[in-house]
Amino acid sequence: MVTEAHIRNLLRVVKDPEIPTVSLVDMGVVHRIDLPANGGVHVELIPTFSGCPAMSVMALEVEQVLRKAGFAPVTVAMNKQVAWHSNMISEEGRKGLLEHGLSPPPHYDPNTQDYALEAATCPHCGSTRTVLKNPFGPTLCRAIHQCLDCQETFEQFKPV
Ligand SMILES: [Zn+2]
Repeated sequence: MVTEAHIRNLLRVVKDPEIPTVSLVDMGVVHRIDLPANGGVHVELIPTFSGCPAMSVMALEVEQVLRKAGFAPVTVAMNKQVAWHSNMISEEGRKGLLEHGLSPPPHYDPNTQDYALEAATCPHCGSTRTVLKNPFGPTLCRAIHQCLDCQETFEQFKPV
């Protein structure tokens, strides 16, 4: 008996192409898994940022992983009705961001959307005495900060 949890586990091998230490499951983008009686799988993903081209690559990889595991037919769809937000990143995913040298986005209350873009933790020394240098990093997902303690410049996965 195949369960949704089984599929989620299989999909842990699919990493964010831009952040190879974080799986798309931990990114919180696997929105829905359907297991129809015909032996197939239907997966619904939520796009993170419209500007992140990684999504189509991930969708293709999801399809390949499930096909290789013997499921057919496999369909992957993007659900654009659901808004992804950075609180959906799991604890495991936040650790993965740090491992990649990216400061994880601060948790915030999605109801008030009240978050400080300036707040970041330095991935090098753990200091919170940091300044926002540029809200637009190398990709739309990232902002650039500088640590006032170790002086290192670092990228943060932005809260959204
Ligand atoms: Zn530092």
